Amino acid sequence: MTEAWSPRVTRVLAPNPSPLTLEGTNTFVVAEPDAATAVVIDPGPADDGHAQAVVRACAGRRVELVLLTHTHVDHAEGARAFAGRAGAPLAALAPGWASPGAPVLAAGDPLAAAGLELRPLPTPGHAADHCCFELAAERAVFTGDHVLGRGTTVVEWPGGDMADYLASLELLRDRRPERLYPGHGPLVGDAVARVEGYLAHRLDREAQVLAALAAGDRTPAEVVARVYAAVDPALHPAAELSVRAHLAKLAGEGRAVADGDGERFHPAGPGQG
Ligand SMILES: [Zn+2]
Repeated sequence: MTEAWSPRVTRVLAPNPSPLTLEGTNTFVVAEPDAATAVVIDPGPADDGHAQAVVRACAGRRVELVLLTHTHVDHAEGARAFAGRAGAPLAALAPGWASPGAPVLAAGDPLAAAGLELRPLPTPGHAADHCCFELAAERAVFTGDHVLGRGTTVVEWPGGDMADYLASLELLRDRRPERLYPGHGPLVGDAVARVEGYLAHRLDREAQVLAALAAGDRTPAEVVARVYAAVDPALHPAAELSVRAHLAKLAGEGRAVADGDGERFHPAGPGQG
């Protein structure tokens, strides 16, 4: 399904719905209306029909650049083939993913393409190689899986890092965006409030994880059973990755203690934090 989300931004929905990907991955075609070229962000899964829909959404424009927010399969599986067929460079933060000659993604080093300026915002947390892209012309940010169109995202231990994730949410909030174009789900109009909501949610979860340890839970699965009791059990395996990321952060801060194999945790004793 292809939909114009602004005069510059067209969303093409990939056919990969699931509890974690919501309706599917959002692939974006971005260009100034009078530009002869376009930028494609997150080509999505390897699916010929989807790739053809993205090409149609380019409306005759040449693809000048392909960007990845991160390299999870639902965003990146089809990226190399798409960029190859389009003859466009593929740029990503993840080592080994960028094509030769692709622009390097760095904070403070805006990309000029398709008549636009896109500023990379490295935002590790959901994944170590995650990068958002700020579209200056709209005070908008393409957020990948850093912030979704609804619900919350997963910080997948061990690839993701909860302390990094919270710092990256603060970075995004401090850009004061007006709208977010997420990798899954609908356009977010109340951007700063949404990011603040994500920060509050993570700190709530952290407090709940600490309370679960204090109540006697020791394994990540025990903590999930208590903290995520109201959440669809189909999401519990993903929730366990986020709980492990919370526990790793708390252990790193001395607020919880990991036993030898890292599979059991207990509260830090008095005087330890
Ligand atoms: Zn992801």
